[in-house]
Amino acid sequence: AEVVGGGDKEVVREYFNNTGFQRWKKIYGDTDDVNRVQMDIRLGHSKTVESTLMMLKDEGSLEGVTVCDAGCGTGSLAIPLAKEGAVVCASDISAAMVAEAEKQAKEQLVSPAVSMPKFVVKDLESLDGKYDTVVCLDVLIHYPQNKADGMIAHLASLANNRLILSFAPKTFYYDLLKRIGELFPGPSKATRAYLHSEADVERALQKVGWKIRKRGLITTQFYFAKLVEAVPM
Ligand code: SAM
Repeated sequence: AEVVGGGDKEVVREYFNNTGFQRWKKIYGDTDDVNRVQMDIRLGHSKTVESTLMMLKDEGSLEGVTVCDAGCGTGSLAIPLAKEGAVVCASDISAAMVAEAEKQAKEQLVSPAVSMPKFVVKDLESLDGKYDTVVCLDVLIHYPQNKADGMIAHLASLANNRLILSFAPKTFYYDLLKRIGELFPGPSKATRAYLHSEADVERALQKVGWKIRKRGLITTQFYFAKLVEAVPM
């Protein structure tokens, strides 16, 4: 298995345009050609998307709300958001991911009443503009905390009202599981995963004047994600 090291953005881009694209497209899809671990990750990830939609809708209708989905992958969140009436800008560092998200959106968003998300190939660090809401799911796992701090600060600068982030929590238990996983790397275990402690994420948010308002934890057998919703202090 190849290893993506150092949190290098170029390596991450290359991975998600090639092997990573194939692997994650399958996990995020609905075909049967996944193994038990991938099926479990698919389930965990779908729960994260579901919880995010619930957090977002908690504050009222999404009709006309502008949302930036940073690191949109194959559009798992951007597409249901568009169905809710949100005005979505979905971007990803990987051109392959963006093309797949756009293809799926065209297939799934057939009603003329629904406005298509705007799809852009861009790393989140180069995004600009202002959105009511910024969401970034399962992206920080590819970057160490020293890079993640800057990414969190930049994402917060794009948001007027709220920022929703998910990350793999650095807890003793998960650390242990990860270490065990590293002893037995499977053939599809292709990226290096960086864990983040909730305190570190909270500190990064506080530094730029944001506080956590809601927290969630999504776990299945092989998928762990902490979900936080932050708002300006
Ligand atoms: N957010 C999507 C979801 O939850 O369905 C996709 C999650 S996938 C594990 C991680 C995604 O982040 C990949 O599509 C990858 O190309 C993208 N990504 C990684 N680093 C990025 C960066 N610096 N800027 C934007 N996207 C990035």
